[in-house]
Amino acid sequence: MKYAVVIISISHRNIDHIFHYRIPEGLNVEVGMRVTVPFGKGNRPTEGYVVGFTDKADIDASLIKDISSICEEYPVISPKRIELAGWMKEKYYTTFGSCFRCIVPKKVNEKSFACVRLNNDNEGLNEEIIKVLKKDTRQKRVLEVLLNGDEIPVSHIKTLLDVDDSPINALIKKGVLVKVYVQEYRGNFNSALVERTKPPVLTEEQAAAVYRIFSDIDSNDKKPLLIHGVTGSGKTEIYIRAIEKVLSQGKEAIVLVPEISLTQQTVERFVSRFGSKVAVTHSRLSDGERYDQWTRARRKEISVMIGPRSAVFTPFENIGIIIIDEEHESTYKSDIQSPKYDAREIAVKLMELYGCSLVLGSATPSLTSYYKAQKGEYELIELKRRVNNTFPNIHIVDMRKEIAKKNFSVFSTELKNAIAENLENKRQTILFLNRRGHSTFVSCRRCGYVMTCDNCNVSYTYHKGINKLSCHYCGKSINVPALCPQCGSQYIKYFGAGTEKIEQEVLRLFPEARVLRMDMDTTRKKNSHRMILEDFRRGKADILIGTQMIAKGLDFPNVTLVGVMAADLSLNIGDYRSGENTYQLVSQVSGRAGRADKEGTVYIQTYSPDNYSIRYAALGDYKGFYNEEIIFRKNMDYPPFTNIFLVMMTGENEYILRQTISRLAEIMKRYNKNNMFTRLGPTPAVISKINNVYRWQITVKCENEDKIRNYVLFCLDKLSEQINTDKINVGLYLNPSYIF
Ligand code: ADP
Ligand code: ZN
Ligand code: ZN
Repeated sequence: MKYAVVIISISHRNIDHIFHYRIPEGLNVEVGMRVTVPFGKGNRPTEGYVVGFTDKADIDASLIKDISSICEEYPVISPKRIELAGWMKEKYYTTFGSCFRCIVPKKVNEKSFACVRLNNDNEGLNEEIIKVLKKDTRQKRVLEVLLNGDEIPVSHIKTLLDVDDSPINALIKKGVLVKVYVQEYRGNFNSALVERTKPPVLTEEQAAAVYRIFSDIDSNDKKPLLIHGVTGSGKTEIYIRAIEKVLSQGKEAIVLVPEISLTQQTVERFVSRFGSKVAVTHSRLSDGERYDQWTRARRKEISVMIGPRSAVFTPFENIGIIIIDEEHESTYKSDIQSPKYDAREIAVKLMELYGCSLVLGSATPSLTSYYKAQKGEYELIELKRRVNNTFPNIHIVDMRKEIAKKNFSVFSTELKNAIAENLENKRQTILFLNRRGHSTFVSCRRCGYVMTCDNCNVSYTYHKGINKLSCHYCGKSINVPALCPQCGSQYIKYFGAGTEKIEQEVLRLFPEARVLRMDMDTTRKKNSHRMILEDFRRGKADILIGTQMIAKGLDFPNVTLVGVMAADLSLNIGDYRSGENTYQLVSQVSGRAGRADKEGTVYIQTYSPDNYSIRYAALGDYKGFYNEEIIFRKNMDYPPFTNIFLVMMTGENEYILRQTISRLAEIMKRYNKNNMFTRLGPTPAVISKINNVYRWQITVKCENEDKIRNYVLFCLDKLSEQINTDKINVGLYLNPSYIF
């Protein structure tokens, strides 16, 4: 006798193991099928996945229940992907249920529309047709449209011939036509609107890179390839050639891009070459749209998927290549939702499972990836030149000297003059500041009181447009108090500039300039993001001011000047990656200048002009930066030399929270054999309260990823044996990419 091994798709640790079910007579059950089974004492109908079969049941055969039904006629998950789920469950300390939910899209009702065609099963079809064609009726007109055997939507026929349903229904009744339902795919990218383009002749560097990728595609011994190519070196064209090759072998390709570069522009570059073989996903797709795009992939109707990190799970079973563009981006890691997976790690696993090639590309690779390339774990491919062979002139501006010259404005004299000149020459300028709002904190000049949100321990940001103070964490906004709430003085002062302030300053200094601002406040409406960029591209504005939204992947031919308003912002976050982030940001922003035939100039304003991240970024010297940064990481024992595991505990009751986390610290101390693990904390989190929820943390460091994970999970189990932790929420983050 055969039993199905079923995993229940409920994400709860207690039921996260396998269950055995009997297969009722006549039900065709295959591995990977989604099934409904009776579960628990009440036999509640519950969804599960068949992951295998067995002859021996783990419980008494009389207690084994029957599978109720199958959800689809086909397997929704392949054996290799079941293996992937098992691997993810261990690696990301989560449940099978949550891994399956990543890999298999939520089932959504399919949308279909009615079509009609000739009823070829009717043996008397020809005679019927002749009869209908004899008389000049509406039925005849309908039939004539369908005589060539096409399947045409009913709605089209009705508009085309200006008829109602009756002639069509009459023909169906006579057996001349049949009605069929055709699935409509939601969320299709309209590739017909994109002009097809011809491939350019590759540069020497591009050709060499393509050659190395081709040999990896043909090799049986795959290794991730890291393309380190400066901005504008033509990486996208390299990706396209690699995809062409795998498609010619009848295989499929996945291209991951950060959400922010999923602009029309990037997508069109792929569509212009691969046409309707391309599908696009992004995080704003509805469940139905996502489901339909995945269905197309499963049915092999498309062979290239472009999307953000979740697209790594596209159900291609014959996958030839995975490309991860801007591989250093933190958005490839899911830090909030469980499983907290890293798309780059998933891609490496898929490379092992499917034997596909994996290409990671960036102008500023993550330190971890570059380190792997140095160790030989990845193969490094370098592109040192821009396609158009220019590099912008980058000037570092020491803002301390500006202050010494009594210039307290947000603009240095040099940048101000450069903007004026650029305006005169009718060229475009981008001004970058990684902070939105007008003033980033508001405080009393007399007593120093800082206006702070009561729900969160965060200072309010002043937004001039709405004339309110607003909290960027909980969204609360209040009127600006006329008097200091602490001392009653009226000397309330605004400090720290955000994008809104820059806009105001630009308009004051250059009243004739046409200005666009792009940040979270100006892009809340659907499509506003795209429209701002479109307007800027069309030359409807001279200056674009924005946050990191404008830093990446955009290619504006007429932009010749870029100003980085405050390069230090990302340096002062107090995180071990701040040097890396600053290098990346400054290089990416600078890469926006002089992309076409025009020379570009970049001004980097900073209070720390000697900082090595900023200096190397200005030189475009990634290697130099890497060599210095890697020594710092080594000396400080930071990743990639160790792993940092963050345990974040949150709760509404601060007293209980502190007691619980102290107890965890005691347990961690007791079980830290040979001091294998370095522990820091408990300490309040950088933001110690959000929305009235308190936040405390412990960090644990150890080189071995498995050991650190097992140790932390073990200590948490001990903790919940000792005390009730119901009121406390625990978040676990391995090498988190954000500061919590
Ligand atoms: P990257 O992704 O490395 O920043 P892109 O792929 O965006 O670089 O290429 C930069 C510009 O150069 C684009 O406008 C692209 O169309 C163009 N380009 C790329 N390869 C070639 C080539 N071989 N010949 C001419 N133009 C090219
Ligand atoms: Zn005061
Ligand atoms: Zn708040």
